[in-house]
Amino acid sequence: MALALKKLASAGVAHQLLPAAGALLPGLGAAASQLQARRTKMSHSEATNTFILEALEHLEYPKRLRKLLLTPEREVAVELALLRDNGEVATFNAYRVQHDNSRGPYKGGLRFHPQVDLDDVRSLASLMTWKTAVMDIPFGGAKGGVTVDPNELSERELEILTRKLVQALRPILGTYEDIPAPDMNTGAREMAWIFDEYTKFAGFSPGIVTGKPVWLHGSLGREAATGRGTVFAIRELLAAQGLGEIKNKSFVIQGFGNVGSWAAQILHEMGGRVVAVSDAFGAVANEHGLQIPDLRAHVADRHSLASFAGGVVIPKESVLTVPCDVLIPAAIGGVIDEDNARDLQCKIVAEAANGPTTPEGDAILRERGITVLPDIFTNGGGVTVSFFEWVQNLQNFKWSEDEVNAKLDRVMREAFEAIWELHTEDKIPLRTAAFVKALQRVTRARVHRGFD
Ligand code: NAD
Repeated sequence: MALALKKLASAGVAHQLLPAAGALLPGLGAAASQLQARRTKMSHSEATNTFILEALEHLEYPKRLRKLLLTPEREVAVELALLRDNGEVATFNAYRVQHDNSRGPYKGGLRFHPQVDLDDVRSLASLMTWKTAVMDIPFGGAKGGVTVDPNELSERELEILTRKLVQALRPILGTYEDIPAPDMNTGAREMAWIFDEYTKFAGFSPGIVTGKPVWLHGSLGREAATGRGTVFAIRELLAAQGLGEIKNKSFVIQGFGNVGSWAAQILHEMGGRVVAVSDAFGAVANEHGLQIPDLRAHVADRHSLASFAGGVVIPKESVLTVPCDVLIPAAIGGVIDEDNARDLQCKIVAEAANGPTTPEGDAILRERGITVLPDIFTNGGGVTVSFFEWVQNLQNFKWSEDEVNAKLDRVMREAFEAIWELHTEDKIPLRTAAFVKALQRVTRARVHRGFD
C-alpha cells in the first residue's frame, strides 16, 4: 500500500485521490490474472488491456479511474463506397478511435490492411495514448484504419478511397483536434492526399496530418524516425545492461517496410550485423550480415526480398527463431505468442511493431530472462518526429535533419531513463514500467483538468 500511495503522489494526484484510498481496488489483481490465465486467444484490445491492468495493479489506483483509462472516448465506424476502375462499386469498412486527449490533441496513424477491424484499431488507439505519454510529448492517442488490401487497388482507386476517408472523418479531425499519420501500408503519398483533401474544406492546414513528403510541409528525418528511434532504444538498453555497443551485435528483423528497413539501415551504418530479415512474402539470411544498402536498393527496384543474391532464402515463419542478440519484430501484431516464445534465440526483443507480443508470449519471455523493450517506448520515435513536424508546420519553419535527429535522440534517452529507473527501483519489467509511467502522466493530466 505504501508503494501505491508513493506512486500516486509521484503522479501528482495523491491529494485528489487519497480520500478514496479506502476504495482501492480489491478485484483488479484477480481481473488481470484471470485474463492472463485464459488459454483462448485474446483479442488485440484484451491483450493491450491486460498489460494496462498489470500496471494499474502496481499503481493500485481507485476503481473509478480504471474504467476511464481503459475506455476510448470516441469510436467512429464508416463505410466507404468506391467506384472501381472496372465500373463495379466496392465498399470498405473504416474506423477512427479516439482514446484519450487529456495531454493534447488525439494523435495516431492510419492503417490500410485486410485484417483491420474495430477491436484492432481500439487497441492501437489505446497504445498511442500510452506511447505519447511515455515519450512525454503533448498529444493524446487515436488510431484509424481501412479494411482493405491496398495491393488490390490501382493508385487512382487508393487516392479516391483516401480522400473519401477524409470526407467521412472530417468532423472529428483537426490541427488541434485529431492529427493522423502513416502506419502499415500508408506513407507520405497518402498523407499528401489527406493534407490536400482536408485543405479543400478548411483552408491551408499542413498541421492536419504528419508524415507528409518533405517537399510538402513534411519534416526531414520523419521517414526514418521510427526505425532510428528503435535503434536509439536498443543502444540505451545495451548500455544500461552493460552489454556494450551496437557494433558487432547481431540483429534479426521481421518486416522490411518503413520501420524495419530503416532500422536495418541505421544498425548496419553503426556496425551491427543484420543476419536475417523477412517481409510478408519471404525471408533472407546471411550469418555474416546482410549488405543492407544493397538489399534496400534491390527491394526498391520492386524485386522480392527472397530473390536477393547476398543471402540464403529461409522460410519466413522461421525468422523469429534465428539466433541473434536482438530480435526486432517490425511488421504486424501478435506474432510472438505462447506457441513460439520458447523457441526464440535472442537476448532482447525490441518491439518496433505495435503489439507484436501477446501477454502469454510475454510471460514466457519474462520467465526465460529475455528482455523486452516495449512497443510504447521502442517505436515512439515515429510519433515524436510527427510532433516535431506538427510544431514546424505551426511555426511555418523548417529544422535541419541533424536538428531533428538530435532532438529525437534526447527524447528517446529521457524516456528510457524514466522507465529504466522504475524498472530497477521497483523491480518490474520494462513494459510494466513504461505503462506505469504513462498511466501516471495521463492520470495526472486527467485529474488536474477536472471532470466537469
Ligand atoms: P509498412 O507497411 O511500411 O511495412 C510492413 C512490413 O511488414 C512490410 O515489409 C510487410 O511485407 C511486412 N509484413 C506484413 N505482414 C508480415 C508477416 N506476416 N510476416 C513478415 N512480414 C510481414 O509498415 P510500417 O510503417 O513499417 O509499420 C510496421 C509496424 O510498425 C506496424 O506494426 C506499425 O504499426 C508500427 N509502427 C509504424 C510507425 C511508422 O512511423 N510507420 C510508427 C510506430 C509503429
